[in-house]
Amino acid sequence: VWNNCLEFIQDNIQPQAFKTWFEPIKPIKLSEGALSIQVPSKFFYEWLEEHYVKLLKVALTKELGNTAKLVYIIKMENTYGNKEPFTEQIPSTNRGQVSPQEMDVPIKSKNPELKNPFVIPGIRNIKIESQLNPSYNFDNFLEGDSNRLARSAGMAVANKPGGTSFNPLLVFGGVGLGKTHLAHAIGVEIKDKYPERTVLYISAEKFTQQYIESVKKNTRNDFIHFYQLIDVLIIDDVQFLSGKSGTQDVFFHIFNHLHQNGKQVILTSDKAPVDMQDIEQRLLSRFKWGLSAELQSPDFETRISILKNKLYRDGVEMSEEIIDYVAKHIKSNIRELEGAIISLIAQSSFNKKEVTLELAQEVVEKFVKNTKREVSIDYIQKVVSDYFEMDVATLQSKTRKRHIVQARQLAMFFAKKFTKASLASIGSQIGKRDHATVLHACKTVDNLAETDKQFRKYIDDLTKKFS
Ligand code: ADP
Ligand code: MG
Repeated sequence: VWNNCLEFIQDNIQPQAFKTWFEPIKPIKLSEGALSIQVPSKFFYEWLEEHYVKLLKVALTKELGNTAKLVYIIKMENTYGNKEPFTEQIPSTNRGQVSPQEMDVPIKSKNPELKNPFVIPGIRNIKIESQLNPSYNFDNFLEGDSNRLARSAGMAVANKPGGTSFNPLLVFGGVGLGKTHLAHAIGVEIKDKYPERTVLYISAEKFTQQYIESVKKNTRNDFIHFYQLIDVLIIDDVQFLSGKSGTQDVFFHIFNHLHQNGKQVILTSDKAPVDMQDIEQRLLSRFKWGLSAELQSPDFETRISILKNKLYRDGVEMSEEIIDYVAKHIKSNIRELEGAIISLIAQSSFNKKEVTLELAQEVVEKFVKNTKREVSIDYIQKVVSDYFEMDVATLQSKTRKRHIVQARQLAMFFAKKFTKASLASIGSQIGKRDHATVLHACKTVDNLAETDKQFRKYIDDLTKKFS
């Protein structure tokens, strides 16, 4: 019966629409004139009911006569990453009766505090937490030569999201130069001007984790549909997607959908598109469709005004001489600039000392030294599993699948190379293995590095992330 319906439907709609909305449907059973079909998500069901209910009705009536009924079975998770999937049956509105309550069955979050953007509380009033930080706004994003273009492009986008040629808007620049701040500021401003629009801020890292999770739980379609509902999508640090072809692929589809529908996309990256590595060409070319604006290192004047503004907002006074000293010595990074001034304030109030030039010298010196990060075994496991698009639990698991074994061996190899931990301790931290396993892993990696070009590339890429 379903196949006949499909044929009829296929003849009556665009091939693309058929592929998207009808191919994923699974017929489940036919009893007493009611056909049950399984759809991948609630959103999917809603879409079918809204756009194709007449077509479905005609198709079904042709097959089963006038009393034909249709029941949707929705397979879903209560939240991403939690609990068992459950199914829900909803009769099509055109046939059975369905009460508003039934339509609005909330999908419960295990931990409502978390504000998980994936909790979709009923399809009638989808509410997506924007995950924006209101303290990152335009008012406290000070303007200077180093950020003027990016800042005003951001303002333009905030005034007319999706309505400028800056789509996507890509903000790029080195660490601590204000990419995340600016990205939030745009979102906050849009929420302020257009409260009804759905805005979502997410880091590329979290996006990747959610994607991996969705593949694991077989809810990839829900993942895609969720993102297609958004009016303004802000993805921070897209360089994180480099080398992650699965995530890039899914992002490509989401991007196209949003862009075609006039939705705004805002991206940040630590590199200009031309310098991005291991990002698919088709994605890079999309990134270049809109505007790429650089955040540069702030000049002296801007550094001074950022420092003064920070002190003013914290209600702290400090002599010009000291402000000058800090601004002269911390040049490349606004985060460090702020960090140094915060630690200076803290030191002086803790020791009840006046902020003297000596104290400033001490703090600045220490501060510049301390910003080098140490590599831990946890960090290594995280980086390696991110790189291979898996989670740490998978990396540590007992599986013998080749690509997982290789990832595990690489993690052991880097732990040996970049930490002072013993073989035994490395083994116990990477999935409870013994020192012989670690030794074997290091040898295997050394061998493969010589013989396997692809593997050599893994090592080189990862080495860069640790040094
Ligand atoms: P990135 O994401 O580029 O690494 P962030 O956006 O996290 O940098 O910025 C680092 C810190 O510097 C944040 O505390 C941010 O508020 C501050 N900052 C960056 N640019 C400015 C600016 N133009 N005016 C005021 N503060 C800024
Ligand atoms: Mg950032």
